[in-house]
Amino acid sequence: MKSSAAQTKNGDNNEDSPRPRISLELSTELKSNRRSLTESEQHYRSLFDFNVDAVYSMDESGRFITANESCHALSGYTLEELIGTTFLRLIVPSELEEVVARFRLALKGSAQTYECQIVHKSGQIVNASVSNVPIRVDGIVVGIYGIAKNISEQKRAMRELAESEQQFRELIEQAADAIYLMDNECVILDVNTQGCSFLGYEKSEMVGRNVAEFIDAQDLDATPFDYLGMTQGKTSVKCRRMISKSGKLIPTESRAKMLPDGRVQAFVRDITERREAQEAIHRQTYCDILTGLPNRALFLDRLDQMFSVASSRGESFAVLILDVDRFKQINDTLGHAAGDELIRMVAARLGKMIRKEDTVSRIGGDEFTFIIANIGHSSFAARIARKIIDTFQDPFIIDEHELYVTASLGIGIYPFDGLDGRTVLKNADTAMYRAKEHGRNSYQLYTEDMNANAYERLVLDSHLRRAIENEEFRLYYQPQVSLADGRLVGVEALIRWKHPDLGLVFPDKFIPHAEETGLIDPVGDWVLRAACKQAAQWYNSGHPIRVAINLSARQLDQSWLCDTIDGALLEHNLPAEWLELEVTESNIIQHKDRAIESLEMLKMVGVKTAVDDFGTGYSSLSYLPRFPLDVLKIDRAFVTGLGRSDKSTAVVKALIDLAHALGMEVIAEGVETREQLHALRDLNCDVVQGYFFSQPVPIDQLEELRARSPFVI
Ligand code: C2E
Ligand code: CA
Ligand code: CA
Repeated sequence: MKSSAAQTKNGDNNEDSPRPRISLELSTELKSNRRSLTESEQHYRSLFDFNVDAVYSMDESGRFITANESCHALSGYTLEELIGTTFLRLIVPSELEEVVARFRLALKGSAQTYECQIVHKSGQIVNASVSNVPIRVDGIVVGIYGIAKNISEQKRAMRELAESEQQFRELIEQAADAIYLMDNECVILDVNTQGCSFLGYEKSEMVGRNVAEFIDAQDLDATPFDYLGMTQGKTSVKCRRMISKSGKLIPTESRAKMLPDGRVQAFVRDITERREAQEAIHRQTYCDILTGLPNRALFLDRLDQMFSVASSRGESFAVLILDVDRFKQINDTLGHAAGDELIRMVAARLGKMIRKEDTVSRIGGDEFTFIIANIGHSSFAARIARKIIDTFQDPFIIDEHELYVTASLGIGIYPFDGLDGRTVLKNADTAMYRAKEHGRNSYQLYTEDMNANAYERLVLDSHLRRAIENEEFRLYYQPQVSLADGRLVGVEALIRWKHPDLGLVFPDKFIPHAEETGLIDPVGDWVLRAACKQAAQWYNSGHPIRVAINLSARQLDQSWLCDTIDGALLEHNLPAEWLELEVTESNIIQHKDRAIESLEMLKMVGVKTAVDDFGTGYSSLSYLPRFPLDVLKIDRAFVTGLGRSDKSTAVVKALIDLAHALGMEVIAEGVETREQLHALRDLNCDVVQGYFFSQPVPIDQLEELRARSPFVI
């Protein structure tokens, strides 16, 4: 500030304050004869001369009487130009009226302080702060004494300040963020437009209220305001939901900072879009696109969560796996679009079934899973399963087709069927497979004994289907040797599965499963063709041997069995007598009528038929005469005891005699020792088969054995 003490005093606008002494002294000078200047007069003279502000006096008509050097600086006019002229030309025309009015007031005795614009001699406008006080002589005002200060610089600075303040305000207003200024108890002091508008409020509705009123109570509990304990200068970032005027919850992220004066400034951002983007990503990773249900990943997540909750609270829960029966068939016949539509419709029905706390998800093609929370008793889970199955009762209408669809369900219950979620899931899956095997359209609660072959069953089912295409099956041949002359007269063809991972798989590992699932049909077909092909080769070589194959119960039940066999024989040009079909005793008994019919037809075709494993199970001596059979195969169980116990020998003798009486040929199975071999020879058995000669072997090894025939008996 350029101001001096004198100027400050003169700037005093209080009319009742004593007149500045300087004016009194000067007026004294004006009034008195010009006697010698006192010391103080000299002081005041220098104050006048060297004052940085313009100091002047004017007569009643506004003519300058005196003016200091600063008057020249302020106005641009020399002192000669000023003295004797009025101030009027120095004032901008627009302000002239007011300035004159103030001059008159000063003449009336009241000091005037005001700002005005002065026209500099150069034409420039100068801002001035003016103080005019009356000069009294004997109580009569005779003129004006005044000080004018150039405040252009100050004005400009203030204008700039105002401008930048304005700009700052605009910036705040334009900010995408909501900005709140709060006192240290979080009462809103100021807020920008965005801060009100994104919540749907007017500024006046927010200022004065505590910001906590606009925040979701739940979030406030989770992340209470810590402004009071906030360290100055540090920014605290919090995600909270704010409540709009209409009650909508808006996810926000706020960055709050305590200012040096203890107030709190918060920048709040509406993160709805960000949340939506996050949710979209979440949906993509955790949602099944087709149905909108949780996918496998989310299901497993929920399963793990459920497990940790249930295990800590000592509660139980159920996992249900649902598989749509024969979905593949629907897909194949009606097309994938219809298949997809069906899955969507199933999903919609299932979605309606469950409570809020439960989960239903689609974890694969036609597989759905449920997590049923806090299940009291397994019967509750079973009831739900029943209800689920019932929802399939109404047909699904797709492209004007009425589709009657069923489902199979498996149920596992924590903690009884597994000590963690994943194990319960696995076991529910096992139970589901069991439900399928038991004729579908049903549910099964998991029981421990199901687990034994579950893994293998799983592996088998999918792999077995590919095994034929991938040519993974092989026929091994076990020689059958005539006891009359030691010649190799026939072979039994036994299937093997060269599994790419599991290695050589034996028939008892997959034939029963293939029978259960119906896969035996294509497998049996393959065996038939492969055996006929091999038999035809031997036949064509001029040294034919008989090839026996095993028929499953299901094949025996096929009405087209004869046609298939006939076809295979024709295909390879093989005379029927070189093919033998083995059927177990139990299979014949179980499918009595059908079996007799089939066997009779096969006889007409000309193939040989053998009863396998005879003596196990039914010992159906009385049935035997009724079946058109050529060969009786004595089961290994009887052969093992030969030579060791007289009883076994007696039974085998009876069997051989009976078979011969019925005109059947007898083959003894499982011959492992020379002792057994001799016993059988003595009992008039026709043919023997067993490890004594060879295990079932691949074709090349069989050829070696054939070359070594006849064997020494
Ligand atoms: P099976 O028809 O009774 O076949 C004889 C089984 O006894 C064969 O087992 C054979 O390796 C085994 N064996 C032969 N000689 C001896 C011996 O001296 N001692 C002992 N301990 N075992 C002997 P494999 O090949 O594992 O076949 C098991 C069963 O699988 C067969 O029993 C048959 O029921 C079924 N099977 C095999 N191939 C086929 C097939 O192509 N189709 C059908 N439907 N079933 C088949
Ligand atoms: Ca057999
Ligand atoms: Ca057998």
